[in-house]
Amino acid sequence: MPTYTYQCDNCGEFEISQSMSETPLDACPQCGEAVKRVIAAGGSFIMKGKGSSLNCGQESPCCGRETRCDKPPCGK
Ligand SMILES: [Zn+2]
Repeated sequence: MPTYTYQCDNCGEFEISQSMSETPLDACPQCGEAVKRVIAAGGSFIMKGKGSSLNCGQESPCCGRETRCDKPPCGK
């Protein structure tokens, strides 16, 4: 079951587990104040190989590693 983060003006942020089919909370379970759902930032998305990166071997490796991999187009 996914955990959602909500922001309440009174209580601050809190997390709650809800199934996907449940409707999002619109009121704080603690104080009844309106809440906003906080969308997780999700971190950086790394493109993986398959020739998807035009910068391969230039600014950054195509494979998402620190160093170039030994497969084209990284290594030649
Ligand atoms: Zn609250």
